[in-house]
Amino acid sequence: MKKWKCSACGYIHDGAEAPEKCPKCGVPKEQFVELDEAAASLVERSRNTNALHAHAIDLARQLEAACAAGIKDALDPGCVDVFTKSREMAWQVMKLSMTEQQGHMGKGKWG
Ligand SMILES: [Zn+2]
Repeated sequence: MKKWKCSACGYIHDGAEAPEKCPKCGVPKEQFVELDEAAASLVERSRNTNALHAHAIDLARQLEAACAAGIKDALDPGCVDVFTKSREMAWQVMKLSMTEQQGHMGKGKWG
Protein backbone atom coordinates (compact mmCIF):
# COMPACT_ATOMS: atom_id res chain seq x y z
CA MET A 1 0.00 0.00 0.00
CA LYS A 2 1.16 3.52 -0.76
CA LYS A 3 2.19 5.76 2.09
CA TRP A 4 1.91 9.53 2.24
CA LYS A 5 3.70 11.78 4.67
CA CYS A 6 2.44 15.16 5.86
CA SER A 7 5.30 17.57 5.25
CA ALA A 8 4.00 19.82 8.03
CA CYS A 9 3.74 17.37 10.95
CA GLY A 10 5.13 14.01 9.73
CA TYR A 11 1.83 12.13 9.98
CA ILE A 12 1.84 8.97 7.79
CA HIS A 13 -1.28 8.08 5.79
CA ASP A 14 -1.81 4.62 4.26
CA GLY A 15 -3.89 4.62 1.07
CA ALA A 16 -4.05 4.91 -2.71
CA GLU A 17 -4.20 8.70 -2.38
CA ALA A 18 -3.32 11.35 0.17
CA PRO A 19 -6.19 12.35 2.49
CA GLU A 20 -8.18 15.56 1.75
CA LYS A 21 -6.56 17.11 4.81
CA CYS A 22 -4.16 15.95 7.48
CA PRO A 23 -6.13 14.37 10.36
CA LYS A 24 -3.40 15.44 12.75
CA CYS A 25 -2.61 19.05 11.84
CA GLY A 26 -5.28 19.95 9.25
CA VAL A 27 -3.11 21.06 6.31
CA PRO A 28 -4.56 20.32 2.82
CA LYS A 29 -3.82 17.31 0.59
CA GLU A 30 -1.14 19.19 -1.39
CA GLN A 31 1.12 19.14 1.69
CA PHE A 32 1.42 15.32 1.50
CA VAL A 33 4.32 13.67 -0.31
CA GLU A 34 4.34 10.02 -1.37
CA LEU A 35 7.05 7.93 0.32
CA ASP A 36 9.33 5.91 -1.94
CA GLU A 37 9.58 2.13 -1.42
CA ALA A 38 12.59 2.31 0.92
CA ALA A 39 10.96 4.94 3.15
CA ALA A 40 7.64 3.07 3.18
CA SER A 41 9.44 -0.15 4.15
CA LEU A 42 11.20 1.68 7.00
CA VAL A 43 7.82 2.90 8.28
CA GLU A 44 6.51 -0.71 8.28
CA ARG A 45 9.59 -1.93 10.14
CA SER A 46 9.31 0.89 12.67
CA ARG A 47 5.65 0.02 13.30
CA ASN A 48 6.60 -3.62 13.80
CA THR A 49 9.45 -2.75 16.17
CA ASN A 50 7.21 -0.43 18.16
CA ALA A 51 4.69 -3.27 18.49
CA LEU A 52 7.49 -5.50 19.80
CA HIS A 53 8.43 -2.84 22.37
CA ALA A 54 4.77 -2.66 23.42
CA HIS A 55 4.72 -6.46 23.80
CA ALA A 56 7.93 -6.40 25.88
CA ILE A 57 6.42 -3.69 28.12
CA ASP A 58 3.26 -5.77 28.55
CA LEU A 59 5.27 -8.88 29.49
CA ALA A 60 7.35 -6.83 31.93
CA ARG A 61 4.13 -5.52 33.53
CA GLN A 62 2.96 -9.11 34.01
CA LEU A 63 6.33 -10.05 35.53
CA GLU A 64 6.14 -7.02 37.81
CA ALA A 65 2.65 -8.05 38.99
CA ALA A 66 3.76 -11.65 39.65
CA CYS A 67 6.75 -10.40 41.66
CA ALA A 68 4.59 -7.98 43.64
CA ALA A 69 2.24 -10.86 44.52
CA GLY A 70 5.21 -13.01 45.53
CA ILE A 71 6.63 -10.25 47.73
CA LYS A 72 3.24 -9.81 49.39
CA ASP A 73 2.91 -13.56 49.99
CA ALA A 74 6.41 -13.61 51.53
CA LEU A 75 6.72 -17.38 51.95
CA ASP A 76 10.37 -17.09 52.95
CA PRO A 77 13.23 -14.55 52.70
CA GLY A 78 14.76 -16.32 49.67
CA CYS A 79 11.57 -15.96 47.65
CA VAL A 80 11.12 -12.33 48.67
CA ASP A 81 14.72 -11.63 47.63
CA VAL A 82 14.26 -13.23 44.19
CA PHE A 83 10.92 -11.47 43.59
CA THR A 84 12.40 -8.14 44.69
CA LYS A 85 15.36 -8.48 42.30
CA SER A 86 13.14 -9.71 39.44
CA ARG A 87 10.72 -6.83 39.95
CA GLU A 88 13.59 -4.36 39.59
CA MET A 89 14.58 -6.05 36.31
CA ALA A 90 10.96 -5.83 35.11
CA TRP A 91 11.06 -2.07 35.81
CA GLN A 92 14.31 -1.85 33.84
CA VAL A 93 12.71 -3.58 30.83
CA MET A 94 9.70 -1.24 30.99
CA LYS A 95 11.93 1.82 31.25
CA LEU A 96 14.23 0.76 28.38
CA SER A 97 11.43 -0.07 25.93
CA MET A 98 9.38 3.00 26.86
CA THR A 99 12.40 5.29 26.40
CA GLU A 100 13.18 3.72 23.02
CA GLN A 101 9.56 4.07 21.87
CA GLN A 102 9.54 7.73 22.85
CA GLY A 103 12.80 8.15 20.95
CA HIS A 104 11.17 6.70 17.83
CA MET A 105 8.20 9.03 18.17
CA GLY A 106 10.50 12.01 18.69
CA LYS A 107 12.33 11.16 15.46
CA GLY A 108 9.03 10.77 13.59
CA LYS A 109 9.55 7.03 13.12
CA TRP A 110 6.13 6.27 14.54
CA GLY A 111 4.21 5.53 11.34
ZN1 LIG B 1 -0.08 17.08 9.33
